[in-house]
Amino acid sequence: MEYCKRCNNEMRIIEKFGENFAILWHCEPCNLTLPNFIECPHSFVKAIYQYESGYEHVCSKCKYCYKTQKVYKRKDVNLDELPVIKVQDQDSLPYWAKWTRANKKFNLKIEEINLENKKKSNAWTIQQWYYGYLDSPQWAHKRNLVFKRAEGKCERCSKKAVMVHHKTYARVGYEDLEDLMAVCFHCHSLEHSENRNLNVVSQFKIHDIK
Ligand SMILES: [Zn+2]
Ligand SMILES: [Zn+2]
Ligand SMILES: [Zn+2]
Ligand SMILES: [Zn+2]
Repeated sequence: MEYCKRCNNEMRIIEKFGENFAILWHCEPCNLTLPNFIECPHSFVKAIYQYESGYEHVCSKCKYCYKTQKVYKRKDVNLDELPVIKVQDQDSLPYWAKWTRANKKFNLKIEEINLENKKKSNAWTIQQWYYGYLDSPQWAHKRNLVFKRAEGKCERCSKKAVMVHHKTYARVGYEDLEDLMAVCFHCHSLEHSENRNLNVVSQFKIHDIK
């Protein structure tokens, strides 16, 4: 049983992966999800390990996942007492195969949860609004005015312009034409790399949505 670190309530299991390789716990009152991935329990076997290439060395490896715990010098061990183990493809280990499958599913689930959480955030709402705005007739009109002003040329290098860039998002949604510039692909990425703070989410003011 797991307890929520925030409110100390018991958490409930929302999903198990593989044969208990990973468990997702959830605290209802906090709406908090706790991932719990169980690593290989490791059982190390000291032996002479032989690889397909013919190479061999003396070490202790986990019989479930092939993790190497320790490598020995041949002169420090009694070779006659050690078993010889052929090392195969890691994916042929039943434990390892199950573990990687569970790990994959588990990571996908975590990604899904992170995305859901992101969707509840302000940044997500602003992004969604912004993509909608870029699709609107108002933006199309403004974009045309900028292209006209620039005579279809990049306002940085004079090659053919392909898009309109926001020099600032201070007035996003009701931009002055001076806030905008026609650019080619190359100059657009230059503009953004020279001004890394240029970000619609951070410059957006809530009263901007009309
Ligand atoms: Zn809680
Ligand atoms: Zn292991
Ligand atoms: Zn350009
Ligand atoms: Zn831009």
